[in-house]
Amino acid sequence: MSRKALLILNIKNLLLVLVVLLTVANCTTTNNSPVAIKGSVNGLVNPDQMFREIRVIKRYIPKGRYGRKYKRPMKPRFITVHSTQNYDGDAWDHARALERGKLRAPKRRNGNRIGYLTWHFTIQDDVVLQHLPTNEQGEHADFNGPGNNYSIGIEMCEHRGNSRQETLARTAKLCASLMQQYDIPLKNVVPHYHWPRKGLKPEHKNCPHFLMTNGKPGRKWNQFLRSIKKQYNRIQIPQEIAEKSR
Ligand SMILES: [Zn+2]
Repeated sequence: MSRKALLILNIKNLLLVLVVLLTVANCTTTNNSPVAIKGSVNGLVNPDQMFREIRVIKRYIPKGRYGRKYKRPMKPRFITVHSTQNYDGDAWDHARALERGKLRAPKRRNGNRIGYLTWHFTIQDDVVLQHLPTNEQGEHADFNGPGNNYSIGIEMCEHRGNSRQETLARTAKLCASLMQQYDIPLKNVVPHYHWPRKGLKPEHKNCPHFLMTNGKPGRKWNQFLRSIKKQYNRIQIPQEIAEKSR
């Protein structure tokens, strides 16, 4: 190779290194975009940061077994909020029970369709466990009604020692994140109470009981909705994603 050719090759390599460095620098800048910096100051977050704050751990029911024996796809349009009314079991206990097919329910006509209870997320003060992908139906609300057919089911834990305040805060964040991900309006975030259960008395369940007022949505539920809205408003969509979805 001539000296001249070698020189040109070296310049080419130098340019390549420069391009790579610039690209890497650009990625880093994107991660520390003004939105993220602002986030640490004003509490604003991008969708990923929000999701990380919630701390979701996947503990799926085995595919094709127990509560996932039947393939039942879903496009989520609602979020249904429940509470466990179980004063002993934490989120991990519920995950284990679901994974092992321990939560049986009598399968019957116009009732439970699969012989098991299932839902998507269980929340306690420090973590969220996910049992089902959000594109699969659960069995937690109203048998063959829209609550099961179109909603993401969330259970809040009530075991002793669990902070209710922290659980509610984490639940509000999860609802906000799911609203953002699936374009679900706040009016479609509903308590289990919302869905009539045909053939059962009472038809509307007092659930989540600690957010109901005299067994119905009232002041406490509205306050909870406001906390979801506050979390939803923290989520800032980075410019490039916002443009793509236009
Ligand atoms: Zn419920």
